[in-house]
Amino acid sequence: MRKRSVGVRAWARMLGLEKAVVEGVELDDEGALVVAVRPRFSQRDRCPHCRRRCPGYDLGDGRRRWRALDLGTTLCFLEADAPRVRCRQHGVVVAAVPWARHDAGFTRSFEDTAAWLTVNTSKTAICHLMQIAWRTVGRICERVAEEAKRGRDLVAGLERLGFDEIAIRKGHRYLTVVVDHHTGRLVWAHPGRDRATVEKFLDLLGPGRCQQLKLVSCDNAAWITGPVAERCPGAVICLDPFHIVKAATDALDEVRRAVWNEARRSGNKQLAKQLKGARFALWKKPETLTERQQQKLAFIQKLNTPIYRAYLLKEQLRQIYRASTEDALKLLDAWLKWARRCRLEPFVKLAKTITEQRQRVEAALTEGLSNARVEQINTQIRLITRRGFGYHSPQAVIALAMLSLGGLCPPLPGR
Ligand SMILES: [Zn+2]
Repeated sequence: MRKRSVGVRAWARMLGLEKAVVEGVELDDEGALVVAVRPRFSQRDRCPHCRRRCPGYDLGDGRRRWRALDLGTTLCFLEADAPRVRCRQHGVVVAAVPWARHDAGFTRSFEDTAAWLTVNTSKTAICHLMQIAWRTVGRICERVAEEAKRGRDLVAGLERLGFDEIAIRKGHRYLTVVVDHHTGRLVWAHPGRDRATVEKFLDLLGPGRCQQLKLVSCDNAAWITGPVAERCPGAVICLDPFHIVKAATDALDEVRRAVWNEARRSGNKQLAKQLKGARFALWKKPETLTERQQQKLAFIQKLNTPIYRAYLLKEQLRQIYRASTEDALKLLDAWLKWARRCRLEPFVKLAKTITEQRQRVEAALTEGLSNARVEQINTQIRLITRRGFGYHSPQAVIALAMLSLGGLCPPLPGR
């Protein structure tokens, strides 16, 4: 008798089970371990949403299984009754179980492990190791992030934040994201890129916290700057360096394409080919160019087409964000003078936009908003949301991003 109870407790411990009792262990026909469990008395008949104790309703669909972490090389499932209860507030629902989240087919420790792996390893590694599909990982991320968010105020004490929009499917579907410049953390993400979405975030902050905002950085977009200016009178709006540099890169690409088209039209195949291959050399930061790309750049310099002028304009603008505030303001002034009369239409246009928004461009410089930091978090968000391309819903992509960049990732179970 005594011996048996130790064995059962050892099973509970191996499975990381708390507040549950192991009733028995067996191997099923396919060689998987099936562990029969039941919630401890204090955990029985609780509503999964409010945790209140409720009167029983019926036995639901009978016995149910939850996939648990493998034990060594063996698949493992928990099996238990899944009765329904009637909650005063939430109606008839399947009673909560202490080992799994509501509506999940996996145990809590399985899901926490999957979430941790999603943040820390590759897509292939997690799908192989856990033997689940990438879409399933998306659903797991949603449940884990949802629970981690509960009882936490992610937007408390915000003073400096940045808005951005991120594509989550090729071509369409966007998220609006908000980053805390102090911590570099993602604090909010929501489908859509419009005024209503920004207002939703400001509603979440509430009037008091909107007043506390000192700085808001964003792209030059009225759907962000409009509501922010209206509702956060104390906040300096600055145009975020990342987007200014990106606008210059886009202008450069426009110039490159025009020269390339011209070369093709005039039958200069050799030049057209060279220019096509030069795209990355022109895009990348000079300090990260490979030797071949450096040669490409030197070639473009020698040709002395408008492309090289455009390249210098782009690089010069990027350098402004690396200089000290005082130098940066002077450099910006010089850059605008140069760009206005450079005879490259895309840059003349960009100079015009920057002049119109000059106060907000300068604010980023005087407020010391570092481009390196903004760019880093931008790159991270873009990489992570790209991983979520295979997910079924924007909510799953948001959950993945919040786990990875919002500090919501749970620790590995038992550590
Ligand atoms: Zn309830």
